[in-house]
Amino acid sequence: MSSADEINRVVGWAYDKGYHVAFDRYGDNSVCYESKTVSIKNTSPIRVQLHTLLHECGHILVHVNNSPFDFKRVDERFSSQTSTKKVYTVIEEVEAWKRGKQLASRLYISLDEDKWDMSVARAIKAYMKWALE
Ligand SMILES: [Zn+2]
Repeated sequence: MSSADEINRVVGWAYDKGYHVAFDRYGDNSVCYESKTVSIKNTSPIRVQLHTLLHECGHILVHVNNSPFDFKRVDERFSSQTSTKKVYTVIEEVEAWKRGKQLASRLYISLDEDKWDMSVARAIKAYMKWALE
């Protein structure tokens, strides 16, 4: 299965959840729960787009199913610049990557584990730096 086929499989999963996936050169690799839109930057390498899309769908899964870490509560209770809010944001990011990987498995997408781990590390490192600012 090519990366493009794998991306289409994840897009189909998102569609079934009521989400539209927009691929655009100015895409900001995000998910909006209100408009139910996932935005992916389509100038990134195709494998990176697949990893990012799985991660954003991981956010949808965290949003829908909740988590032992109550992100919504922390989000409401703590302001953006607090350590608590920032650290919980990092935790939510880790959880979204975890759920993205589980989703790949459910969709019979075989990830290159080393490349996946590198994508996770790159993304989480950036959030860690931000959290410690
Ligand atoms: Zn994220």
